[in-house]
Amino acid sequence: MTDTLLVTGSSRGIGRAIALRLARDGFDIVVHCRSRRDAAEQVADEVRALGRDARVLCFDVTDRDAARAALEADMEVHGAYHGVVCNAGITADGAFPALTDDDWDSVIDTGLNGFYNVVKPITMPMVRRRRPGRIVVMSSVSGIMGNRGQVNYSAAKAGLIGAVKALAVELAKRRITVNAVAPGLIDTDMTEGLASEEALKAIPMRRSGRAEEVAATVSFLCSEDAGYITRQVIAVNGGLC
Ligand code: NDP
Repeated sequence: MTDTLLVTGSSRGIGRAIALRLARDGFDIVVHCRSRRDAAEQVADEVRALGRDARVLCFDVTDRDAARAALEADMEVHGAYHGVVCNAGITADGAFPALTDDDWDSVIDTGLNGFYNVVKPITMPMVRRRRPGRIVVMSSVSGIMGNRGQVNYSAAKAGLIGAVKALAVELAKRRITVNAVAPGLIDTDMTEGLASEEALKAIPMRRSGRAEEVAATVSFLCSEDAGYITRQVIAVNGGLC
């Protein structure tokens, strides 16, 4: 039986590239989105075209009850997941004095609480499966070094690193690895217009990254070959930090 991985926020951007790369590397995929079901269905079709099974789940990761209900219903029918790539995230940038309460709450809710709301319901079923498993969490260069105008986002992404490191210790004996990937500037909807000459100058490789380059690292961490890698933060950032 083929192992199934859930990829949150895989209707577009980095998540879509991860879903397709994981499918290419032999996994069945649960494609997830918040609201763009048509885009998610299209990604699921692309996964199927690669010869793997795919299904779509849509829920807001900030809604704890909705996340639990959707995941439990899916696992009831299809069984526990091999793992999850917690990729859904948003930005709401602004200099700290101009940051609104909503900018703070929405970014923490999506990035950090979204991790809890998704990983909590699926972890015990993964443990009970008594097989190796994978949890990969999308952090960011902002969570490692902090970024001007992103106090909220840097806090969410740094918080995820702490959560990954603690959960990795708890799940290590169960052969479930937990790692974070910390991309730098990657070309997606989220970063549209941000790859200015000045921004690129700060990157030693002098270019932004491609979603596929992040996906390759995530897929390696999900592979059997990465079975002894846990509690790590892997940067994919062109040498930014
Ligand atoms: P995009 O904005 O292109 O895509 C975001 C994805 O997350 C979409 O699938 C979206 O679903 C989903 N999503 C957003 N909010 C929610 C929510 N509340 N509930 C459920 N799903 C949600 O982002 P990227 O591909 O650029 O980023 C993916 C991840 O990588 C994020 O965690 C981001 O922080 C991180 N990252 C990105 C970097 C970059 O340079 N792009 C750099 C470092 C980290 P829908 O389509 O339905 O809206």
